[in-house]
Order: sequence, then structure tokens, then C-alpha cells
Amino acid sequence: MTHSISNRILLWHRRDLRLSDHRAFELIAREQLGLNVVGVFCFDPQILKRDDIAPARVAFMVGCLNSLTESYRQLGSELLLLHTTPETGIVQLAQAIGAQHVVWTKDVEPRARERDRQVKAALESVNIQVHTVWDQLLCEPGQVLTKTGKPYTVYGPFWKNWSRQPKLTPIPCPVQLQGLTESEQASAQRVGCLPQLPMADEFGYHWRNGFPLEPGESSALEHLTGFCDRPLLNYAEARDYPEQLGTSRLSAALRFGAIGVRTIWQATEEAIASQNSDEACHSITVWQKELAWREFYQHALYFFPELADGPYRKQFKQFPWENNPDHFQAWCRGRTGYPIVDAAMRQLNETGWMHNRCRMIVASFLTKDLIIDWRWGERYFMQNLVDGDLASNNGGWQWSASSGMDPKPLRIFNPTRQAQKFDVEAQYIRHWLPELTSLDNTELLTGNITPLESQYRHYPEPIVVHSNQRSRFKSLYMMASVNV
Ligand SMILES: Cc1cc2nc3c(=O)[nH]c(=O)nc-3n(C[C@H](O)[C@H](O)[C@H](O)COP(=O)(O)OP(=O)(O)OC[C@H]3O[C@@H](n4cnc5c(N)ncnc54)[C@H](O)[C@@H]3O)c2cc1C
Repeated sequence: MTHSISNRILLWHRRDLRLSDHRAFELIAREQLGLNVVGVFCFDPQILKRDDIAPARVAFMVGCLNSLTESYRQLGSELLLLHTTPETGIVQLAQAIGAQHVVWTKDVEPRARERDRQVKAALESVNIQVHTVWDQLLCEPGQVLTKTGKPYTVYGPFWKNWSRQPKLTPIPCPVQLQGLTESEQASAQRVGCLPQLPMADEFGYHWRNGFPLEPGESSALEHLTGFCDRPLLNYAEARDYPEQLGTSRLSAALRFGAIGVRTIWQATEEAIASQNSDEACHSITVWQKELAWREFYQHALYFFPELADGPYRKQFKQFPWENNPDHFQAWCRGRTGYPIVDAAMRQLNETGWMHNRCRMIVASFLTKDLIIDWRWGERYFMQNLVDGDLASNNGGWQWSASSGMDPKPLRIFNPTRQAQKFDVEAQYIRHWLPELTSLDNTELLTGNITPLESQYRHYPEPIVVHSNQRSRFKSLYMMASVNV
């Protein structure tokens, strides 16, 4: 079926804030819908008023939207902006500009899926066609299943299957789109389209501390190239040392789709093809495995939406968390008296990002040492992370709490040993805890600081004793397991 050129298409962007390597354009071409495409992004007040939104994340998203606005302009079209609930706003806008088709890319999050169902129904009730496609994953849910056709609940076999699946290559961005006429623009404004991109501050989110990488499509692509040129080749070794720039820091760009996953995958395959060294190839595969973790958690959330609300393992449904509010505050502020934990929490609070090794350390500390419900930590992370993402964050927290899909349920990190192994010279600790800079490495790594020294430096003494808490957690866990 060939459509006339005036066929108006509205492309609703959500976590796909780019134009290249965008599967919607493949869909539009496949269904011969034409190139009369305008974009829309909807600032949803229901999301913006939630209590798990990070100022850094909103500011990063606005930065990506700024870049996307420019990309549309360069192709001769525009990105329209709404500040309303999409259930009503998208339908009104589609009608106002005479769109016959609305296209978007699918999401795994339960709330997003419910919203999408409602928007689809509303559009179809006024005879506007809805087209959807998977974009944010290399393998879509349902593509990677066990021999009995079930979703995987263990990462190892998921990776084996996932890594063998064919991966799509990136789709080039169209060279020209058709924008709105002046009268259509006026109609768009009449239904509430914003005259310009608002700042994050206008929604009450103030962030001035920069980002792990600049927001937007071109910066993400540049960042990927830089990472593949060198750090990627040493990733297996460097990725565990928080003081080194050994990881990609692409998480926020991936979270908002400022870069397409196929582009990333292709870069890794090209890097493997151009390498003679086994070590470098191993590093690239290790990084690919991290991309697969991201997909594992997204598939898990898609098939088990109940993960968003609670633990996967039964032992944790009624777990007697102690939830001491003072301990929680100390953890949030980076004042537990465990230097590696405090350094990591200060990195999060000051930059909106935390190294993966440290995310595991602080999450283990909150749940196993402080015996605080992992959902408290999950929410605090979402309130602060620039890359905060329901699937990965929930997956990471459930992994750390031992409440999730994990074959090794009782992993308890010893913060001192973690620091000794991964921050050998205490550089990371010194960086984030300036009040302790002049202490020697042993004091910083073990946290054995005399009470007098702690007082003088205004640094707290340890709020709990790791070995005691470890035993305590174990016995609570045994009791919880008996009752299952
Ligand atoms: C308690 C906890 C909470 C977490 N919360 C989030 C979150 O909200 N958002 C988020 O993107 N990641 C989260 N992670 C995973 C991981 O820590 C970050 O993805 C990573 O630190 C981002 O840095 P990077 O881009 O340099 O990663 P790299 O090491 O360069 O990895 C490349 C990409 O792979 C993905 N990835 C890497 N490790 C993981 C992982 N363990 N799980 C899922 N995806 C992964 C990310 O998209 C990352 O950008 C969490 C981990 C833990 C333990």
C-alpha cells in the first residue's frame, strides 16, 4: 500500500532521544508511510511529580531533547513539546495536526506499558493508526527463551543464548523530513505545544554538577568512539577500579536512547574484528556481557512485572528488615564510618553517577550490614542517578539483596576487603573524602581510625560492626528461609 506524501506521521519519543539507528524509521520505510514525520515529546506531570526522580536525570534528558530538537530542525522538521498527560495530549495533538499515524517504540516498564495501552486505545477510537516497534534492545522479549519456551531467570544461560542471536545493524537516519506548515504549527500551539524547550529548573529540578558525558546524540557517538579506541581494550582489567576511567559511562545515554544499541553492538564487533590480541578481544566480550545484563534485566521486568514492586525470592516477601532511619540517613549522606561506602555515596550525591563496583558495595552494605529494605536504597538511587532505570536498578538491588534471580543467594560483601582489592592505594577514598586525605592507606582501607582522629576530622566512627551484622543477617535469612 502506497500512501500519499501528505500522510502525516507523529513520532512519539520517550526513551529514544535520537534520530539515527532508530527502528521507527525502519518501520516507517517498511510500511511505506512516507517522510512527513514530526516528532513529539511529552513531559508527563504524573512522572515529574513522582518521588523517585533525580534532578540530574531530568537535566540530562532536557539536554538530550535540546540536541534532538536541533536534529529535527536540520532535517527540515520539528520536535513538538507537550507538558500534559500523554493519554490526552498525544491524541489531541495528532488530531490537531491531522496525523493519520502515530509511531512509538515499545517499553518494558509496567507503568509505561499500561500508559501505552491507553494512548493506543484513545488514538484508535478516533481512527488514527498506531505503529509500534522494539528499539531499545538488541534482542526483543520473547526472542531469547529456554528450550521449554520460558523466559530465563538466570543470567549465565541467558547470555549463552542471547550472544548467539543475530543482531540487527543500525538504520541510517533519513536525510530529509517534512515539517509542519505554519497553520499546522498554529494548531499545535492551540492544543498546548510549548513554544520552546523548558529547563529542568522549570519543573523544580535543579542540577548544576555536570554529567558523566554530555547529553545528546552526537556527544554519545563521539564518546563511544573514544571508548572503543582505548579503554574498551583494557575493560576486563580496569572496569573494577573506581578511581580509573575504565568503564564507558554511556549508561545515561543508553537510558535515554541518545545512542542506539545496534550502533554500540556494531562498534564492539568492529573492535573485535580489528584486534589481534586475545586480551583485547576478551575485554570486548566482557563489555558485551554487560550490555547483556542490561537486556537480561529488561526481559526479566517485561515477563515478571511484579519485580517492580517486590522481591523475586519468597524468603524476602516478609523479611524482618530493621530499617533504622538514622542508619539510612548516615548511608545516604556518606557518613557510615566505612570510608569506601561513604566515598561512593558522596560520588553519587555530587555527580549523579556511581561506579558499578561501588554500587554493589553500597547496596550490599545497606541490605546486609544495615539490614535495611533494599527498596529504600532502590528509591534513593532513583532519586539521584543520572542513569536511573527501573529494570537495571531493580535488578542490581535485588542481586545485591539476594532477593532476585540469582543462583548465589547469599553474597555478602566485606567493605574492607572490597576497598583493599579495588582501591589499593585509597585514591578513590581520598578523592571523595577530603577530610581523610592525610590518613595512611591502611586506615582508609580498613576504616580503623582512632576515635580521636575521627572526632578531629569530623568523620563518624563506624555505625555498625561488619562481622556482627554479617552473622545477624545470616541468621535472619535462615529463619526467613525456614518459614518459606
Ligand atoms: C545496586 C545497583 C543499581 C544499579 N542501577 C542502575 C541504573 O539505575 N541504571 C543503569 O543503567 N545501571 C544500573 N546499574 C548497573 C551498572 O552499575 C551501571 O549500568 C554502570 O555502572 C554504568 O556505568 P557505565 O556506563 O560506565 O558501564 P559499562 O561498564 O561501560 O557498561 C556498559 C553498559 O552496560 C550496561 N550495564 C553495565 N553493567 C550493568 C549491570 N550490572 N546491570 C545492567 N546493565 C548494566 C549499562 O547500560 C552500561 O552503560 C546498577 C547496578 C547496581 C549494583
